[in-house]
Amino acid sequence: MKKKVKNFSKAWVYKFLKLISFKKIREKAKRELLVINYHSILGIDTDPRINKNIYRSEDELERDIIFLKKHYDFVSLLELIKYKLQGENLPLNSVFLTFDDGLAAVYHKIRPILLKHQISAAFFLNPLFVDNKVLHYQRKKNLIAQSVSAIEVDAKQSMWKALLTEHEIEADDFFVTLNSIAYNKSPILDELATLFNIDVKQYLAENQIYLSSQQIEKMISEGFWFGGHSMDHPKYDEISFSEQINQTLDSIDWVKKRFGLSYAIFAFPLRDHNMSIQLFEAIASKCEITFGVMGMGNDIINSHIQRIDVESSGVSINLALKFEYLKYFVQGLMGRKTYERPKKYKTLL
Ligand SMILES: [Zn+2]
Repeated sequence: MKKKVKNFSKAWVYKFLKLISFKKIREKAKRELLVINYHSILGIDTDPRINKNIYRSEDELERDIIFLKKHYDFVSLLELIKYKLQGENLPLNSVFLTFDDGLAAVYHKIRPILLKHQISAAFFLNPLFVDNKVLHYQRKKNLIAQSVSAIEVDAKQSMWKALLTEHEIEADDFFVTLNSIAYNKSPILDELATLFNIDVKQYLAENQIYLSSQQIEKMISEGFWFGGHSMDHPKYDEISFSEQINQTLDSIDWVKKRFGLSYAIFAFPLRDHNMSIQLFEAIASKCEITFGVMGMGNDIINSHIQRIDVESSGVSINLALKFEYLKYFVQGLMGRKTYERPKKYKTLL
């Protein structure tokens, strides 16, 4: 219900925004920099659940880029680092693109569009997934859910129930329970896959989900930038403080060393609003800049850059950005132009 009300009011805001000139709203906001984040391309994932996500089609992504080229100046990673760390100026209305999760779609579908328009971007990788070695635990859940029939679930009920109980997971409806398995219990997914004769390795051999090292090397040679995105994409709210540090630093270090990079950058997996100042202090000396995905405002951590999610808005980039500018104005009126963060680590578990 709450979501319906939210969507309803968003539709009215969009109607209102359609009446306002993009240039006017952009000029009024006077933002030096916008960073926009994407993941994939519509309808091409081998995981049908992930395909239900709202992504841009190739044409739509190209349209976004043409729009951005018209209204903004694309800046390089080096300019971004100098802007954040040395206080160097950027042209007013600069823009930078990032792509999270290191999916193979980036190479086959997104890279050609970027090359065509001669713009670079930064890509954030989960080292354990590179070369298609490991499947993310949420994808594993989807694979099991799609592969197992209700008849098999009934036939093996005592076995999966025993497995789940052994891992202290309350088992009732199989599919509901499967869907609710948290990151820290995710090793059980391999046992469930084995129980139902699902070969995850075979699935990975037949479906290229993630970028290969060779593709990454080629992209680096073409001028694209890469950084860490945690080792295997947990929800940071569900892991301990030391795991947050390890996931962050190990992925930064792996990408830097594996590809011999002269810089180190990182994007938090999922939402970063609960990440503590304590965590930023612990990782500060190991990377130049980090990225979140909370919108257009500044962050209390100077080297942390917030990004805008245009992809899942489902509307044109013109409208999606006008909406973000409006949000930025409203946050300003409420005295919340800068995103605050908890001082110390807190967990939601
Ligand atoms: Zn991600």
